[in-house]
Amino acid sequence: MTAALSPEHRAASVARMAAEPFDIVVVGGGVTGTGAALDAATRGLSVALIEATDYAAGASSKSSKLIHGGLRYLEMLDFGLVREALTERGLLLTRLAPHLVRPVPFLWPLTHRLWERPYVGAGLLLYDTMGGRRAVPRSRHLSRTRALEVAPALRPDALVGGVQFYDAQEDDARMVACLARTAAGHGAAMATRVAMVGLLTLTPSGRVTGIRASDLLNGTDLQIGARHVVLATGAWTGAGVESAEGELQVRPSKGGLLTRTEKSVLFVIPWGEHWLIGDTDTEWPYDPGHPAASRADIDYLLAKVNHMLREPLTADDIEGVFSGLRPLVAAGAGRGGAGADTTKLSREHSVDSSVPGLSVIAGGKYTTYRVMARDLIDAAVRDLAPGSGGTGATTAAVGAIPASRTVGPGCQSPRSTGCSAAMAPMSPACLT
Ligand SMILES: Cc1cc2nc3c(=O)[nH]c(=O)nc-3n(C[C@H](O)[C@H](O)[C@H](O)COP(=O)(O)OP(=O)(O)OC[C@H]3O[C@@H](n4cnc5c(N)ncnc54)[C@H](O)[C@@H]3O)c2cc1C
Repeated sequence: MTAALSPEHRAASVARMAAEPFDIVVVGGGVTGTGAALDAATRGLSVALIEATDYAAGASSKSSKLIHGGLRYLEMLDFGLVREALTERGLLLTRLAPHLVRPVPFLWPLTHRLWERPYVGAGLLLYDTMGGRRAVPRSRHLSRTRALEVAPALRPDALVGGVQFYDAQEDDARMVACLARTAAGHGAAMATRVAMVGLLTLTPSGRVTGIRASDLLNGTDLQIGARHVVLATGAWTGAGVESAEGELQVRPSKGGLLTRTEKSVLFVIPWGEHWLIGDTDTEWPYDPGHPAASRADIDYLLAKVNHMLREPLTADDIEGVFSGLRPLVAAGAGRGGAGADTTKLSREHSVDSSVPGLSVIAGGKYTTYRVMARDLIDAAVRDLAPGSGGTGATTAAVGAIPASRTVGPGCQSPRSTGCSAAMAPMSPACLT
């Protein structure tokens, strides 16, 4: 079975989709959908995945590229979410994708004397403990002089000291491409530029038996039969594909990337020779296909980061801007009112299987994609064979070899991974 997502693989996949019914049809080629296709394929189920544009075209190429527990959620006392995400971080670093995920150091600049160091230090000690002993190096306290050596771009009067801690980083789009290839290698039929336009249902039971789709390369209509359909369409959930998407409602929250701010944590993340600075967290009630950073978003981020920098950045220093939509679960699932601030909405995920033959997932975060994929396919398997439990894939992404066999964390050469781009060496980052 080849893992190459070639034109030949697409053509063969589309031909299979037109001809044979599948156990599972996955709609959406972000990290959740490709993860679900991989999970299902490694359980021995026959799987097809369609993606309307390209792999990772949605939020999965527009994240902050962090595989993290989320210090913000620790402060919100969401221990379950942090623990789950840190467990996934450890698995990704050591087993699932050690060639794609690597530790990255952050500096938390301290700006208040007395109370802040014990407060931040205790939080990071808990974070390290929850993350396990060997996943990433432990946090360490720094004097102001040492913090400025670590992050010389900071204004000396902007901090009184610092704490260095570690999280992990990946190239989000590349990881999705590797997951898609791994799923294809396990027999999944995968096709981009195929969009779902509706559900096939049985009358009068209303059971979903497949999807209606359009091959966007040639305009051909497709009917893809499925014993169970799973929707992993992120911010598109509920957008224009009939009403049979169950009770889940998504509230797209826009994040644009260009230290702690009033609205969310602001990261300055090393990215090759560049910085990723972000991000925002505001509601986006418009077309999910075209989230855009506004001038106000950019000014807000520049003002916040300049507060800390020795040499202020201007709009001329910006080399690119991108924004994506977090598919946050809205009020219907009981996690915050329709008017609630999106920063307060939970990053937990929900699976809705209220329509027979259909499961829909929303919420979650990139870091926990494997758990989301597992829960989604568990729901499908329960429908296919009531009473049966799931297993959940812990299959390594194509190209992975265990961390113990690599030179250093994530140091395997891109050629040997079979994936396209190399990740640049990391340098320290800062966060407040
Ligand atoms: C600015 C920002 C920063 C973030 N940073 C982080 C971070 O650092 N760490 C972290 O863990 N998480 C982060 N997240 C969250 C994370 O990016 C998302 O939770 C995750 O990528 C969502 O993946 P998904 O597969 O569910 O959705 P998406 O990646 O949006 O995928 C949905 C896919 O469905 C396809 N689709 C839609 N409709 C159809 C249809 N009808 N037919 C076929 N295909 C269809 C779309 O084209 C799209 O590719 C961030 C999010 C944002 C916006």
